[in-house]
Amino acid sequence: MISFARISVNVPTLTGVFDYHLPPNLEGKISAGHLVTVPFGRQTVQGVILELVPIPAVAETKAVISLLDPLPVLTAAQIKLAYWMADHFLAPLAAVIGMMLPVGLSQQADVRYTINVQRPAIDSHQFSATQSRLLNLLKEKGTLRGRQIDRHFKNVDWHRTAQYLVRDGILTSQSFLPAPSVRPKFVRTAQLSVSPEVAEAAMPSLGKTADTLKRRQDALRFLMREPSDVNVSWVYAESGCSLADLQELAEKELIVLRETEIWRDPLLKLDPAATIEPALTMDQDKAWKQIAVSFQEPAQPFLLHGVTGSGKTEIYIRAAQEAIRRGKQAIILVPEIALTPQTVHRFLERFPGQVGLVHSKLSDGERYDTWRRARLGQLKVIIGPRSALFSPLPDVGFIAVDECHDGSYYQPEPPFYSAVSAAMAYTSLCGAVCVLGSATPPIVLRQQAETGENLRLLELPERIARRKLPSVRVVDMRAELKSGNLGIFSRPLLDTLDDVLKRGQQAILFLNRRGTATYIFCRECGYVARCPNCDTPLTQHMESASVLTCHRCGYQRRMLVKCPECHSPHIRAYGLGSEKVETEIQTLFPSARTLRWDWDTTRHKDSHEIILSHFVAHRADILIGTQMLAKGLDLPLVTLVGIVLADVGLTFPDPFAAERTFDLLTQVSGRAGRSSLGGQVVMQTFQPESYIIQTASRHDYSAFYNRELNERRKLGYPPFNRLVRLEIRDQDASRAEAGARAMVAKITNWIEVEGRRETTVIGPVPCFYAKMGGVYRWQIILRGPEPASLVRDKNLAGWRVEVDPVSLL
Ligand code: ADP
Ligand code: ZN
Ligand code: ZN
Repeated sequence: MISFARISVNVPTLTGVFDYHLPPNLEGKISAGHLVTVPFGRQTVQGVILELVPIPAVAETKAVISLLDPLPVLTAAQIKLAYWMADHFLAPLAAVIGMMLPVGLSQQADVRYTINVQRPAIDSHQFSATQSRLLNLLKEKGTLRGRQIDRHFKNVDWHRTAQYLVRDGILTSQSFLPAPSVRPKFVRTAQLSVSPEVAEAAMPSLGKTADTLKRRQDALRFLMREPSDVNVSWVYAESGCSLADLQELAEKELIVLRETEIWRDPLLKLDPAATIEPALTMDQDKAWKQIAVSFQEPAQPFLLHGVTGSGKTEIYIRAAQEAIRRGKQAIILVPEIALTPQTVHRFLERFPGQVGLVHSKLSDGERYDTWRRARLGQLKVIIGPRSALFSPLPDVGFIAVDECHDGSYYQPEPPFYSAVSAAMAYTSLCGAVCVLGSATPPIVLRQQAETGENLRLLELPERIARRKLPSVRVVDMRAELKSGNLGIFSRPLLDTLDDVLKRGQQAILFLNRRGTATYIFCRECGYVARCPNCDTPLTQHMESASVLTCHRCGYQRRMLVKCPECHSPHIRAYGLGSEKVETEIQTLFPSARTLRWDWDTTRHKDSHEIILSHFVAHRADILIGTQMLAKGLDLPLVTLVGIVLADVGLTFPDPFAAERTFDLLTQVSGRAGRSSLGGQVVMQTFQPESYIIQTASRHDYSAFYNRELNERRKLGYPPFNRLVRLEIRDQDASRAEAGARAMVAKITNWIEVEGRRETTVIGPVPCFYAKMGGVYRWQIILRGPEPASLVRDKNLAGWRVEVDPVSLL
């Protein structure tokens, strides 16, 4: 019987699947998840087998060309997840599958060009300049690939020229697929191949000069002590010998030299010391018991709501152990691995040799190896950011999403997706246990957990060892200004900082800063310039400083010169860099050692670790930084967190801005006082009455939650409705606008035709960041109980479509 293969073809924009038949040589060798090459149009492309089907969907099928990897590249559960994600996030299936394959394995097809040896006489031809250039190049270099030709033809479209020459028989062309660019890495190893007595007997005859003799004897002695294969570089280091010496020993059949495939393991540098596991506290035990039960019978995912330092990580460790005990594997998602070295170390200590790291800064080779070890089931625990969810583990038993409120779990580029939602779906597809942990869970998740819809709530209300959350002092910067302090630091902050430094402890200064836009406020009374139509704070952009814009409704006005409330001339845009803060600190505290941590200082692969380890080793007293300081660091010597300005995020025209700011302030505050030294937080603000500042300063999640839930209810935002965001980008401003208006007309019509009274359209409006990199952006928001179903299967070509967006900027 001929079987047919349903294939997702690796052309990222394709949404459909295609049926092919299997040639006789591949019958029986191919199953779901295999990576193959197939003809597609006039190209050869890669594809992944989704399933084998008895009857194809089309009458005539082409044949699969070849099998690229004898093992499947996707598990059955991953294929299910890919279908789920494509459907849920309205993303092309091929694009979703593309994310699941390691870089370098998924290659694009290319074409080889050669001058035709049996070409017609070309001397009579009249060639264009580009044709001549291409022919000369191929004459000189022989056969070339398209990508190689690209390098010689910057900004010249030679493809069409090449096609003409092929048509005229002057060139021949051949489509092909480059082999994966990543290869396993080999190391040379050495091992003793005779008994120690034989080796000992050979010692005197190993070399002619004294030096040579000693080197070879030392090398052999070293290998006599090592029972297994050792990397030759160790032998060199131990004995001072060279490869030639070892080859001589191998020649005498005393040792064997081998090429061994080793895994490029980025964790090899670390040296985990085994630790004992602590007895769980009562709260932890209560939470753990419920999770343990769900290993026996599938249950809903858990929301583990526990304050910073309440022992959530210990729970993930228990659950991972349980999964491994049952012969399964675990995935631990963390916001950014470089920022959570302590979590990583704890897993390494508890699961020595079984942990694989997925890291945005791994080399392609390291990533490929981790991927292959995961596929073989050699790694039991995978830790990494959102993409680690796609590790091809054979039998996933547990997934944790640590700090599940973190923005990094959302992929802000197509294919847009939330790794939190995907993790929940994945665990339900493979019957695994799921725990979403946070001190500040997303409003939407907390609400679902309270209503028992999709999630079950577990709480850890206290820090381990009853350590207190740090006290937060809110400083009204308007009062500081009135009393004559024009600087960026308040007196309470300076005083506390002075104390902390005198005691030899450490401080963190945090800047809440996002994007290039700034908002406008009065430094005397705290007045914030808002839109008269919709109350959205007006913003000023670098490019046009004299104009203030409302990004909700498009209202514009000139920059204010005086405060309309108190007539103060001190009304201005607020934006503050960490550089400025550092300079000020150095002036005020000349002997304090400062360390700056922001995206400018952390481009280098390991610089996060370097900065952190510097600070942890107390080679600096004050760490000045932005957002990444909020991500789960455990710094025992830090007894002061100074929030230089808490307000910036309060005023973004985005229904999710309040939640983001609350999370950030709470998380940053949680960095203080994690040891017995205790700690405090000084929060500087021009809006001390804001409910966000108020609740964050009391670590009062539930007060914030209740208030915010009310706001959301009033405005009809999630969790009371769901959103879909459609964005169009165009270099031409009026084309972007016209496209957006035309789309709104279509959508309004769909709503009408389908009778969806509960679905509303907001917009079109220019996005908050209305122009980025020379491109104009317009957006449309759909709001309703199930807005995705309105646009699913509709033609949205040219639009960026986000289901459940996390920001409307
Ligand atoms: P979270 O993940 O909630 O921030 P952690 O799991 O990092 O909290 O725990 C905070 C600190 O308490 C860590 O240093 C951890 O080793 C320690 N810890 C956790 N659970 C226990 C326990 N049951 N007994 C003693 N120490 C614990
Ligand atoms: Zn407005
Ligand atoms: Zn004022």
